This record gives sequence, structure tokens and C-alpha cells, in this order.
Amino acid sequence: MEFLHESIALGVDLLILGLCVKEYVSYKKNVNCLKAAPQLAIDSDLKKYVGAQKDKKIPYAVVRGTVTPIGVPMRSVMSPSVTGVLQIIKLSEHRVTRGFAGFWTEQRKLIHVSSNEMPFELRNNESGVEIIDALSAAVLDLDVVYDNYEPSSLSFFDHVFGFFSGVRQKGLQTTEEVLRDGSFITAIGELELDGKTLRLQPSPVGPLFLTTATKSTLIKKFEEAKSSMLVKIFVCGTISAILIGYIVRKLYNKKKQERDERKIKETLEKERRERRARTRPLNLTTEQLCVVCTTNPKEVIILPCGHVCICEDCSEKIRVTCPVCRGKIATKAAAFIA
Ligand SMILES: [Zn+2]
Ligand SMILES: [Zn+2]
Repeated sequence: MEFLHESIALGVDLLILGLCVKEYVSYKKNVNCLKAAPQLAIDSDLKKYVGAQKDKKIPYAVVRGTVTPIGVPMRSVMSPSVTGVLQIIKLSEHRVTRGFAGFWTEQRKLIHVSSNEMPFELRNNESGVEIIDALSAAVLDLDVVYDNYEPSSLSFFDHVFGFFSGVRQKGLQTTEEVLRDGSFITAIGELELDGKTLRLQPSPVGPLFLTTATKSTLIKKFEEAKSSMLVKIFVCGTISAILIGYIVRKLYNKKKQERDERKIKETLEKERRERRARTRPLNLTTEQLCVVCTTNPKEVIILPCGHVCICEDCSEKIRVTCPVCRGKIATKAAAFIA
């Protein structure tokens, strides 16, 4: 493949471009639906307000309140003095692996994640909104309450094994993140009045957010991400355009060169034919004439059959079978008839 490197580079670039465009579109969508989402105060009027809406739902709304467990709050596993309503424990392995070039690089691999949740609501004085399916939130701001790194003690055999397998464990890290009860957060999602309780749940309109940031900070963050994605799209687009231009130019030059070569060959061929025509004897008998064009003298011997039956001009076109005996042509040579 002549354009292998260029094609691979172009393919990779277009792939990155596609991913950037996808990200950009999702950021843009987030900004738009966040801007359109009404910010509602959690108070005694909220139930009435939501109940008056179509299907007793607001597709995408922003509420702020204090995280309050419904029931007894969970205790953190690693730091029992902390209580909360959501808990994620992650165990990851730090290891060094040998890459293609033989260099060892550090990696962090998530081995195990376990999460726990309990019913909770966002409260403001006497009113509250229950949060449903909090773990599926796109942005979920939790507090890290435990983070411990334990270096591995490797034996001699582990080192030998690691040398051959290309993977060596360095240590294990355990972290625990908790959404503490009593923390003040912003929740964004679908607000629904279900019987007598207000619920905020994942929405078909936009992602669920449970964050310590305010609505305006979130919008600002997404706007910034959108702008930086636009710069990446511009850079990738420019690289793609340059690569396409380069490939097209190379293709054009190749075609042009082929055309020029063919032209030179044709001119040479023509000159040779004319030269032959000038040197040919005139007044030949029918037996001496080429059986194909019956104009030029017989000039070529066909092998292995041995027939001398065609002129040089015709021999350029006849390549497979002898026109006299239909035998296969292995080779042809100039014949000199004295
Ligand atoms: Zn001929
Ligand atoms: Zn023959």
C-alpha cells in the first residue's frame, strides 16, 4: 500500500475528530437543558406547583437542599465516625507493566468497586424531595473519607515471575467515598409528584446531577469544556484537511507521471513503426506478406510452433495463439529471411 501511513494517520485523526464532535454535542446539549431547567425552592408550595404540571412532572428541574437520610444513616466502613447515605468503596492495583518498547510504565487498575445506597431526601425546613437512583448520576460529588495505599512486599520469585510476565504489582489502594448526611447539594433531574411525595429521578431530557456546585457554576464548567472541545475540533479538522490535501496531491502527481510515461512510450513506438515502414522492401508476393494485415512483410517467428507468419507491428498485438496453427505462443523472435 502506497498511502498506508497517510491513510492510518487520517483514519486516527478522523476518529479523534468524531469523538470530539460527539463530546461537543453532548456538552452543548447539557448547557442548553441546564439553561432551560427552572430552579425551584423546596418549600410547602412545591408540591402544589408540581401537581399542577402535565403528568405531575417537571422534565428537568434544579433543587437545592440538605442531604437527609430517610431512616438511620449508614456508617462508613473504613472511618466509622462518618455517616452518610451513599458509599462507594474502590480497590485498585498499582502496577508496572512492560510496554512494547521494553520500558516499564506505571498503571492503575480498578479491581473492585462496591457501592451502597439508602433512601434519602434533600430537605429545606419541613419540606423535602426524595432522590431516586442517585448512583446513576453523571456528576456525583462525594467526599473521600478514606484513602490508603499499601505497598506490596514482593518475594524473589515474584520479581522473577514479573520479569518474564511483564507485569509487577507495586501496591494496593483502597478508597472510600461517601455522600455525608447534612451536606448541602444541588440536584438536577426529573421532578415528579408521586402520591404525596416529591421525587427527583433520572430524566429523559438531560443527565442526573448531584453536585456541590450551583446551577450557574455547572453551566460555566460545561461552557468551558465546550470551548476547549471546539479548539480540539479545529486542530483535528485542520490536520485532516492537510492530510487529505497531501494524499490528493500525491495521487494527482502519480497519475500525471503515469500519463507522461505512457505518452513517451507511445511516441517511441510510433517512431519505431515509421522507421520500420521506411526500410521495408516493396513489391512483395502474397506469400511474403503478413497473414494478419497483408501489408507488411513477414518478419517474426513464433515459437515453439516455428511459424513465420506475421509482421513486427502485428506481433505487438498477437500474444496468446499463433494465427496459423492456434498453438500457444511461448516466445517470439525476429526472423531473417535471406
Ligand atoms: Zn502484419
Ligand atoms: Zn504456428
